[in-house]
Amino acid sequence: MVDLDMDLRFIKGVGPARVEILNKLGLFTLKDIVNYFPREYEDRGNYKKIIEVVDGETVAVKAIIASNVSETRVRRNMAIYKAIVRDETGSMILTWFNQPYIKKQLKMGEEYSFYGKIKNTFGKIEMQSPVFDESSKAKNTGKIIPIYPLTNGITQNVFRGIVESAVKTASGSLEDSLPEWIRTQNNLDDIETAIKNIHFPEHLAQFDKARYRLAFEELLTMQLGLLRFKEKGKEDIKGISFEKDERMDELLATLPYTLTNAQQKVWKEIDADMKSDKSMNRLVQGDVGSGKTVVATMAMFKAVRNGYQAALMAPTAILARQHYEGISKMVSSFGMKVQLLTGDVTKKNKQIILDELKNGEIDMIIGTHALIEENVEFKNIGLVITDEQHRFGVRQRGILSSKGEKVDTLVMTATPIPRTLAIILYGDLDISIIDELPPGRQKIDTFAVRRNMEERVNNFVIKEITDGRQAYIVCPLVEESENMDGVKSVTEQLEYYKKVFRDFNVEMLHGKMRPKEKDEIMARFKANEIQVLISTTVIEVGVDVPNSTIMIVENAERFGLAQLHQLRGRVGRGKFKSYCILKYDSKSDVVRQRMEIMQKSNDGFVISEKDLELRGPGDFFGTKQHGIPEFKVANLFVDVPILKVAQSVANTINEDDPELKLPENGMLLRKIEELFKEKISL
Ligand code: ADP
Ligand code: MG
Repeated sequence: MVDLDMDLRFIKGVGPARVEILNKLGLFTLKDIVNYFPREYEDRGNYKKIIEVVDGETVAVKAIIASNVSETRVRRNMAIYKAIVRDETGSMILTWFNQPYIKKQLKMGEEYSFYGKIKNTFGKIEMQSPVFDESSKAKNTGKIIPIYPLTNGITQNVFRGIVESAVKTASGSLEDSLPEWIRTQNNLDDIETAIKNIHFPEHLAQFDKARYRLAFEELLTMQLGLLRFKEKGKEDIKGISFEKDERMDELLATLPYTLTNAQQKVWKEIDADMKSDKSMNRLVQGDVGSGKTVVATMAMFKAVRNGYQAALMAPTAILARQHYEGISKMVSSFGMKVQLLTGDVTKKNKQIILDELKNGEIDMIIGTHALIEENVEFKNIGLVITDEQHRFGVRQRGILSSKGEKVDTLVMTATPIPRTLAIILYGDLDISIIDELPPGRQKIDTFAVRRNMEERVNNFVIKEITDGRQAYIVCPLVEESENMDGVKSVTEQLEYYKKVFRDFNVEMLHGKMRPKEKDEIMARFKANEIQVLISTTVIEVGVDVPNSTIMIVENAERFGLAQLHQLRGRVGRGKFKSYCILKYDSKSDVVRQRMEIMQKSNDGFVISEKDLELRGPGDFFGTKQHGIPEFKVANLFVDVPILKVAQSVANTINEDDPELKLPENGMLLRKIEELFKEKISL
């Protein structure tokens, strides 16, 4: 047995210089290397004859060198090396750039295996910069080659060698987290086999089986973790019945508008849940701007009218304050006490709030994560609402609910959750959809532009703000970062835009500012004392400034589509025509397609679906945002069949050994902690 936590410098082939590079990749121990999986594979073992190769494909060919290697200098620093090779079906030309040693390596008349990209111009076949081996010694060819996500300073070849010796060293010492009965029942590889074959599969079937096993393990771990976080046996418990007839009509009369049909429909569903003595456990889904807040307010109002306290948790202080102001205004004439609790209230005020929550003086509390701190206690909380639920983890939602007994729970989100995810996360959760926007909303015109449009965009903004409107400019970063070339930061753009819009007030807003400063900037923006706000995605969720009509996103290629849609939802909230300008800087096809979707569609559901389609496997559609950990192998989009099996196995384990106390389940418990990056107390 070797120590899997052994420092990786003890692995054969790893010298001091490489230690540093490997550390940069987050690799420190033997275990880390063994568990660092390939990003993709190249099948260099499937040989084709020269006559069979197709233009554009990357392929392996065995052929004999039929000419000397020629050298042509095209420029001072550029030499091209060419050789002709042939097999019994034809011949082709091999080309390399600036690799003089090729001349020495390839010998006339000998056979080699080549692997490279084919170019066929009118029957003239070329293979570009192939890797090769002597036919008898397959090292870089002749098999499936794993390709790892690497960084500068280390080649695939070198890294592959390191993994090879790491896997060899660890062999015999890997512990299997899956009890044997699970492996047998589901025909799964043991861990040794799976690790070997995920790195170095001899053929596709081996890879598939290894991948299945590893994905299964991750999904099972996730399922077990989620079972642990769920409030136990919630379905069977009788909840609160909010029976009392409320003065809802009076409340609605305070609004300057009437509810949309969709809002009324969703309210009916919530109202019925609240009346019933079953605990409400409902998700309200509705696109950006569909008016979820007012529905939430109605539910809180009802709870308070029935003698209970209600809490609303929002992901940012800005949003919490906005809700606080709106809701206070709505219920002010009903004698209800509404309070705001965020991380930045002074110690003294906080104590007052905590006391008043505990003795029941406060009826409605609106806040951020501050609400789930341990010292927050309620007298009789009856309703818990989480706004923009996708920003919180499953765990956090649970904590707030657990501050009361059998509370009714409402979660709201603008991000449509794929069905598979909804089932995993919420199980018995009911879903209401606000599928209609309030009337009079104008379509937001969206333009995706490249750098050469910068000046036109700026002039357009000047025209709009001269007309009295306001603009947001969102950047991916707060400060400039050396290792991200060309990515715009808030601080740098602030300087630039202060010059561009010199006749107006330009300010910035980002997550690293103190909460007080943020609130102040937001208040001034709302009052139109600031015309252009440069910010990070802190304004992504929920912020409501109807006079703002332009949303510019810098480096739009760096954002997910659902996120861009959220950002776009910050404008078009008033009576003015609004615009979203996505500035991007990439020639990638996928980026172009993504931008096109944003230009074409204003429908959050369509956009999320397309977003999923365009993300390749390995990119797991923002699961982090849903409180689902990130997987190395599993992909919730394609692995639904595996998930189903894992789910049923998880249920069996949960019935037999709910506390995971059996020795055979011990490793699973550790895996859960690893995956969710938190300690589980049972
Ligand atoms: P979201 O669903 O994105 O949270 P909000 O609740 O913030 O949306 O509502 C967006 C805007 O629409 C707010 O300014 C709100 O006052 C307004 N609004 C909500 N419902 C209606 C309605 N039925 N008619 C007109 N405006 C409405
Ligand atoms: Mg909202």
